Amino acid sequence: MTAPTGAIARIDLAALCDNYRLLAAKAAPAACSAVVKANAYGLGAERVAQALWQGGCSHFFTVSIAEAISLRTVLPQAFIGVFYGVASGEDARLCLAHRLMPCLNSLGQIELWRKAALAQGAPLPAALHVDTGMNRLGLAGEEVALLAQSPEKLDGIEVQWLMSHLACADTPQHPLNALQLRRFTEACGHFPEWPTSLANSSGIFLGTDWHGDLVRPGAALYGINPVPHLPNPMKTVVTIEAPVVQLRELRAEDTVGYGATYKAPAGARLATVACGYADGIMRSMSNRSEAFVAGQRVPVAGIVSMDVTVIDISSLPEGAVQPGDRVEFIGPHIAVDTVAEQAATIGYELFTSIGGRVRREYSE
Ligand SMILES: *Cc1c(COP(=O)(O)O)cnc(C)c1O
Repeated sequence: MTAPTGAIARIDLAALCDNYRLLAAKAAPAACSAVVKANAYGLGAERVAQALWQGGCSHFFTVSIAEAISLRTVLPQAFIGVFYGVASGEDARLCLAHRLMPCLNSLGQIELWRKAALAQGAPLPAALHVDTGMNRLGLAGEEVALLAQSPEKLDGIEVQWLMSHLACADTPQHPLNALQLRRFTEACGHFPEWPTSLANSSGIFLGTDWHGDLVRPGAALYGINPVPHLPNPMKTVVTIEAPVVQLRELRAEDTVGYGATYKAPAGARLATVACGYADGIMRSMSNRSEAFVAGQRVPVAGIVSMDVTVIDISSLPEGAVQPGDRVEFIGPHIAVDTVAEQAATIGYELFTSIGGRVRREYSE
């Protein structure tokens, strides 16, 4: 095998499945699905979903129908839900053809799906999404009450779950958690026979009141801490690393990179690494985050460029780093949540920003 020349994202599928098992055990007796939207948070939906299926997960959610259709090709038997629901007759046709379950977000979507069921002459499965405080997607509480009064609007629709989504689950003391639970419980009161689904990753850790019958974790499966105020209970799944392409020792005090933002003294030793913001090493990590090389953490020196990032290896013994050595930017030694905080973002955005040219390598 030839040496890789650019960044690599290593994805530990065994750790992924361990994380699934931990979340499923925590949520039991509720069932545990896996959210694999946005290409499984940038990690590669096909491999991730196949590993989870083999690890015992049978229910998956994507956000769009297109994502769900490509998932169907690798998971012929899985249950696949679509958060965007159906926006047209064509969407409904695609859901039927690929056996996808839309999450219906409005009375208009419900009407589309009801018509599809009528045309099909057979009941069709769906989730009903009720908005309990995000004000983003889903039916308003009054619309759920209206459906209870006019159940014919749901003719031919087999409601699998009444679902909602939490806005502040990673902040347990936030009052919106209890308020959303109260609104959700009220909505569910109209249809006591329907199963329920409320919790995302962090919601699972809020307590059993938030579990309902099906939980929907995404981030925690991939190693992002669902309880930011506590030590991360999840295993590291993702390592982002790239090779050193060049070494340099400064003869005199000088600056590094665009904008000359990093000043280093004479004798400083620098390593240029083959990854930049086009790979997902975010520009906001400039002069803020760290890298791990030769057994030590060292600072990112200067502005991250599109294709290269410089690190200051002056604290390491001379010769400890050589061209070709791998440098970790996120992984077991550099927690994704730490980098996210330094870069003023969240782990979700770091993972979904992993560039298209970054090779994903999977280990079982
Ligand atoms: C993204 C998403 C999830 C998963 O959220 P995480 O915080 O990644 O666990 C669950 N439900 C809905 C509706 C979502 O959009």
